[in-house]
Amino acid sequence: MNQHFFKAKISSKKIINAELCLIRLSVDGWKGHIPGQYVEICLTAQNDYKAYRPYSIASKPNNKYIEILIERIPEGEVSTYFYDISDIGDELLVSKPLGQFFILPIIDKDVILIAGGSGIAPFMSMIKNRYSNKKFQLTLFHWSKNFSGLVDYDVLIKQNEKRNYYPYITQEIPDKWSKGTGRINIKAFEKLNKNLYHKIFICGSDTFVENVNGIIKETFPHREILNERFGDV
Ligand SMILES: Cc1cc2nc3c(=O)[nH]c(=O)nc-3n(C[C@H](O)[C@H](O)[C@H](O)COP(=O)(O)OP(=O)(O)OC[C@H]3O[C@@H](n4cnc5c(N)ncnc54)[C@H](O)[C@@H]3O)c2cc1C
Repeated sequence: MNQHFFKAKISSKKIINAELCLIRLSVDGWKGHIPGQYVEICLTAQNDYKAYRPYSIASKPNNKYIEILIERIPEGEVSTYFYDISDIGDELLVSKPLGQFFILPIIDKDVILIAGGSGIAPFMSMIKNRYSNKKFQLTLFHWSKNFSGLVDYDVLIKQNEKRNYYPYITQEIPDKWSKGTGRINIKAFEKLNKNLYHKIFICGSDTFVENVNGIIKETFPHREILNERFGDV
């Protein structure tokens, strides 16, 4: 792999639920990123075998650390290392920030963000960065199997004065849950002003992104649609 890698250390690890964890990496010489970008992570085994995987940056831009939200994929080489084995102080390598298209540098128009599961990761960075600019609206839809997978729910629901956060639970629906349920469908977008939004970002597994594209192209014709696919079985 022909690119510069920074030395990094795990400085915190938070288990969110049975599938997700949030890892903070302190990165030597880090210079920040544009929300929406990802990094290539390189793990090196004792026999010098190297495994590379891309992960979206979930933290707000800064020059000290990045956070990555990892979904544990059963039998997955790198995601199970992070979820099951990794510990504070572990060392690894992180590339410079990558990706020039799925980015939200300055919010100057209203946009829609649509996430499936861990696909919320790049949007966490965009949303945290957005709070300084309240002029334009960022509308977030998040589909998750369960409540605990709705990462940052408490913060997002509190900051929801403009009613622009739409959480959905598809499987383990808690008692008294009054927000969205069920898989993504065209009805979810009916309330939105179709002329307002200028870009639509979609992120999640291949299957999720494909499904959403079908619906979105019909609901919002002539809008720019940007996709980030995390892979699938
Ligand atoms: C641009 C980009 C950004 C990404 N950002 C994130 C992120 O923020 N968080 C995150 O958790 N992942 C992200 N991914 C996916 C990540 O790079 C890995 O593919 C994922 O963690 C699986 O790696 P692994 O080594 O654990 O599994 P592997 O050992 O590579 O694969 C094991 C098995 O799982 C299947 N598989 C691989 N990925 C998935 C998946 N996402 N869903 C279901 N099955 C899968 C494979 O087909 C294979 O059969 C991103 C991918 C891309 C391309």
